[in-house]
Amino acid sequence: MLIITLQRAKCIGCNYCQEVAPEQYRMSKKDGKAVLLHARDRNGFHTVKIHDDELLEVNLKAEEGCPSKIIKVKLQ
Ligand code: SF4
Repeated sequence: MLIITLQRAKCIGCNYCQEVAPEQYRMSKKDGKAVLLHARDRNGFHTVKIHDDELLEVNLKAEEGCPSKIIKVKLQ
């Protein structure tokens, strides 16, 4: 299982995460920041658990390439 966290307030809206992992991220038309799909917001940390390990690689790419370093991916 993957646990992905996005500290959304610090997103600068560069669009990188959506480019590498469109299954997981969408840019909001409202505020221009990334939306972590199906995530729950807990005090600004948006978290989602995913049971599809095939999404590990694209999420690691997003984590590595995010210029704000606000995406964290954990494998459990
Ligand atoms: S890569 Fe990071 S800074 Fe860029 S849109 Fe995604 S979450 Fe925001």
